[in-house]
Amino acid sequence: MDKPAWLIKNGIRLDGRTPGDVRPMKMIAGFLDKADGSCYIECGKTKVVVGVHGPREVHPKHEMQDTKALVRCTYNMESFSVDSERRRPGLDRRSTEISKVSAQALEAAILVERFPKTAIDIFMEVIQADASTRVTALTAASVALADAGIPMKDMVTAVSFGKLYGENGEEVVAVDMDKPEDNFGLADCAVAYMPNIDQFTLMQMDGNLKIDEMRAGMAMAKKACREIYEMQKAAIKRRYE
Ligand code: UDP
Repeated sequence: MDKPAWLIKNGIRLDGRTPGDVRPMKMIAGFLDKADGSCYIECGKTKVVVGVHGPREVHPKHEMQDTKALVRCTYNMESFSVDSERRRPGLDRRSTEISKVSAQALEAAILVERFPKTAIDIFMEVIQADASTRVTALTAASVALADAGIPMKDMVTAVSFGKLYGENGEEVVAVDMDKPEDNFGLADCAVAYMPNIDQFTLMQMDGNLKIDEMRAGMAMAKKACREIYEMQKAAIKRRYE
C-alpha cells in the first residue's frame, strides 16, 4: 500500500467520510445454527463472525471459578483475511493479546456471578481485515452474547479512533480507522464502552495523542458507540421478528 499524500482534506477523508463517521455497518444476529449465540458483522470491508457457547461445563476443570463464570475469548484472524504475504495461519502474540483484552472487556458487562463454575466461550473469526478488527469483533461479540441469552449489565460497543494528517499539515482526530488510516495515521486507539452505564471497558493506544486530542477522541468514540449501540439493538430485534 503506497503512502497517501494526506488522509484528510477540507474535513473529508479519503473514503468520503467526515471525522465523526463510522463506515457502513451490517449486523446479523443468530448467523450460525450450532452456536448458542452468534453474530456476523461488517464494518466497511472488515468482516467478522462471532460464535458463543455457554454457560457450559469448564474444561480443563482447574480453570473453573467457584464464584463466577469463566469468560474466555479466542480472536483469530484467518490467513485469507489479509494480503497473503501479511499473515501466517494460527495463533500469534497479537491474537493472544487481543483474546485476553477482549475477554476482560466483555466480562465487565456479563453478570458472571449468576453462573459460577461454568465457562462462557466466545470465538471471534476475522474473515476479512480492513483495520479495527478487534473493536468490530467486540461489538459483534456483545450481540452474540445477547443472542445466547446471557444476561449483561449493558451491551459493550466498541470503536477505534485516531489522528490523521491533513493536506495542509493539520492533525485531525477521527473515529473508525480503516486500513490506510491505521497504516499511515499518527495514532490509533481501540475503545470498548457501555453506553447505558457510561463506562469504558477497554482502552488501547498506538502512537501519540495530546491530552486534548485524547479527550476529543473519547467524546467522538462515545457518540459513535451510541450509534453502533442502536444497530446492535436493531440486529437483536430483527432476530425475533
Ligand atoms: N494486519 C495484517 N496482518 C497482521 C495483523 C494486522 O494485515 O498480521 C492488518 C489488518 O488489516 C488489521 C490491521 O492491520 O485490521 C490493523 O491491525 P491492528 O493490530 O492495529 O488491529 P485492529 O485494528 O485490526 O484491531
